[in-house]
Amino acid sequence: MELYAESLTEYKRLATLEVKVGDLLLGNFNPIRIQTMTTTDTMNTMATVEQSIRCIEAGAELVRITAPSKKEAENLLNIKNELRKRGYSTPLVADIHFTPNAAEIAARIVEKVRVNPGNYVDKKKFELIEYSDADYLEEIERIRNRFTPLVKICKEYGTAMRIGTNHGSLSDRIMSRYGDTPIGMVESAMEFLRIAESENYYNIVLSMKSSNPQVMVQAYRLLIENMHDELKHCYPLHLGVTEAGDGEDGRIKSAIGIGTLLEDGIGDTIRVSLTEDPEFEIPVCRDIVKRYTGIKSTHIPEINNSSFFFLGKKTGTRSSFEIQNIGGKHVPVVITDFSKKNKITPRDLEDIGYAYDAISDKWNIGDMAADYIFCAHTPVDFALPGTLKIIHDYKAWQAASDKEKCFPVFDEKQYADDTIQKSQSLNFVMLDCYSEGYPSLDENIFFKKIQSDSTAVLLLSSTNQNAMQSIRRMFIELEENDIENPAIIICNSNDDTMDESLIHYAVETGALLLDGFGNGIFPRYHANEISKQPGYKLLNSIAFGILQATRTRISKTEYISCPSCGRTLFDLQETTAKIRAVTNHLKGVKIAIMGCIVNGPGEMADADFGYVGSGPGKITLYKGKEVIKRSVPEDIAVDELINLLKESEAWVEPVLINA
Ligand code: SF4
Repeated sequence: MELYAESLTEYKRLATLEVKVGDLLLGNFNPIRIQTMTTTDTMNTMATVEQSIRCIEAGAELVRITAPSKKEAENLLNIKNELRKRGYSTPLVADIHFTPNAAEIAARIVEKVRVNPGNYVDKKKFELIEYSDADYLEEIERIRNRFTPLVKICKEYGTAMRIGTNHGSLSDRIMSRYGDTPIGMVESAMEFLRIAESENYYNIVLSMKSSNPQVMVQAYRLLIENMHDELKHCYPLHLGVTEAGDGEDGRIKSAIGIGTLLEDGIGDTIRVSLTEDPEFEIPVCRDIVKRYTGIKSTHIPEINNSSFFFLGKKTGTRSSFEIQNIGGKHVPVVITDFSKKNKITPRDLEDIGYAYDAISDKWNIGDMAADYIFCAHTPVDFALPGTLKIIHDYKAWQAASDKEKCFPVFDEKQYADDTIQKSQSLNFVMLDCYSEGYPSLDENIFFKKIQSDSTAVLLLSSTNQNAMQSIRRMFIELEENDIENPAIIICNSNDDTMDESLIHYAVETGALLLDGFGNGIFPRYHANEISKQPGYKLLNSIAFGILQATRTRISKTEYISCPSCGRTLFDLQETTAKIRAVTNHLKGVKIAIMGCIVNGPGEMADADFGYVGSGPGKITLYKGKEVIKRSVPEDIAVDELINLLKESEAWVEPVLINA
């Protein structure tokens, strides 16, 4: 296999080995399994059992429980016995960091153990050390000696294992040689995998998690290539975005990271890590997985050329020329669909980031203000904010008086018809990437015309069931044929619920944006039932959330908060809400909120500031990876965080916007 997926143009699951976790089969085309992790204290048997049951009843097929030391590992037996007594046979997974002793106990009790190769043997000191090849080999031998006993126990007891690399907790040794990179993540797992295989142990699942979906996606793709090249087989993959946060942002980030891979048939089990009670993670998992149940592979022709395969894993941005504020070096634009409105009023703009102040007679423009409104044929009869422009059907555009702020949209036929008047500066051309099949772009008159038109912006959509793949194929074709017109992704949803729509938009646009495709997004909703429609405010917020999560347009504060577990030292949900309330105007600042000092500092990867539980009622504050304030009493810690932001010149006073 030359690339990371079976196909980039149709849905095909990646072939993997089969792993047995208790009675549950994972990988090898078995259904994508859903899992979560408890947040209770593992020593509190009944609380952990009750929470596990809530997760199982919600649909979890595996439940992970933290085992930070030997005593928690031993208590897994009580938890397991109680669950079995109550009739629940769901496999349990012990989550291990730093403690091989706990792993060796747990592997005799539960169906699966998760080890983190970044800290199973190595201790993280954030040190950069120069290793000679001989030193490095010596370190690998040290890992072999410490890790092999666990492999032998797993073999003997039929216990499965996840080798779970996290971007934020790579060992100092890996960091020194490979840096904080996807290849470092892959190598970290491969070292453990080689040792396991040398013991003929194959009951293994792998993961490559990061709080940054782009890093995560790249790491999984690289891992697949590495496994194929070196081992000639591929282990099942557990997908997840770490520290995704809560609410809408956490769901968007998770859907983008996990969905981008699932779209290409990659992934055998998923966990959505939210800073919420774990049973709330399960419906999100179900909505994501549902997309791939019974999916038909609607054939989209392959492109027989090697650069296509290369492009599929590229990380650069597709090059495009600039038309007004679209393409070139501009951040992706957001188009709001007002086409179903019979009348558009200033009040409608409040939902999409603009607020009119009658006293000053001015518009306040928020950081999440849409760039264009698509009004079809509905006229706009009031003065718009300076940054907002209108897209009309071409006939309505012809009738519009202000052609500086108003631009036409055409379908393919209308655009090709030279008798129809066009704008001198900006014309949108809608293209269904599947309806007509694929034209050969190099001989196609329509694309020749587009290519030589410095005013034409493409609006790409697809009616294909594999919509993302067909739009991606079009982007690749455009690139292959040097057609550099900006292209915006239209994403159509007619899903039954708002949650499903959110996932739909996040997956189908996120997967393209992560690969550098798309000069904007245009989410549209098609179900007729008004009650099912997400609403303009939510749709706008989802659009900006997708751009933020793909790091293509930063418009708000980013929160990297752990999902909490038995190690957590404060109420994560309450604290996250408190911090969010006072810092959510700090556009672009990344704040980590982590439950414990054991894993928190390592896991918070690229956060600018960290708020980390360091003891009961005590918080340690970080700037990057540097400790700034230790053991701050919890009741003043949020104020101290604000002080730290001020001292670091990362603070601005919130601006109160008049409604
Ligand atoms: S960082 Fe959070 S989820 Fe991770 S071990 Fe600590 S408390 Fe648990």
